[in-house]
Amino acid sequence: MKITRKDFLRLTGLSLLAGGGMKAVRGIAEYAGEAPRGSAAKPVRWGMVIDLKKCQSGCDLCIKACNQAHNIPQFADRAHEVKWIWNETFKAVFPFAETAYTQQSYAAAQVPLMCNHCDNPPCTRVCPTQATWKRDDGIVMMDWHRCIGCRYCIAACPYGSRSFNWQDPRPAIASVNPDFPTRTKGVVEKCNFCEERLARGLGPACAAACPEKAFIFGNLADPDSEPRQLLRSRFAVEREPELGTGPSVYYLV
Ligand code: SF4
Repeated sequence: MKITRKDFLRLTGLSLLAGGGMKAVRGIAEYAGEAPRGSAAKPVRWGMVIDLKKCQSGCDLCIKACNQAHNIPQFADRAHEVKWIWNETFKAVFPFAETAYTQQSYAAAQVPLMCNHCDNPPCTRVCPTQATWKRDDGIVMMDWHRCIGCRYCIAACPYGSRSFNWQDPRPAIASVNPDFPTRTKGVVEKCNFCEERLARGLGPACAAACPEKAFIFGNLADPDSEPRQLLRSRFAVEREPELGTGPSVYYLV
């Protein structure tokens, strides 16, 4: 079934308002193994832990899965690139976390990057139309219908996590996923932590596609969640924590 962006938002809203809403909320709860939100529910703060020791250099299955799930266009011209998840070298991502020894360990490593779904996101503060906002569960959302293409959010994001559609993206989508909306020229987009999959009780597409299980997604507010257990037992770094943005994507090194 082919749905437009308008249909998608309308259906999502209706499903949350009607009986489907409880199903969707249950889906989220089941994924993280917690009580449904509302009443006496535990707090939820979605986060991602990426184990760089498991992430295989040169593998791009996570990127391909994300591109397919979210109808991300592939332009030959890098100046028009749209990306939700992408790779950079360790040296470029963590220039100050590098010693002579980490340099040896990670010389060939590619670090998967995405929106950090910051706890204190500068991008949302500058949007004049509230087209981007942070949900209670920490996911930083985009409403493409409200985006006027001013790109203030792109300027405000210190991580390069947002892309602008300089041209119509639809002809550049290899195979359209009919279950996710496509975008138009003139709007900003970025990773949404697969909120559409969370609503169905599924984890993010990148995590599901990784053969090494290098992506561990879960509830950072739950001390017993897998991400929290890993963050207790392994050394982790965030991207530029000194900026005070509070990233919810962590890298195990
Ligand atoms: Fe906003 Fe950038 Fe933080 Fe994502 S990484 S929430 S786009 S400031």
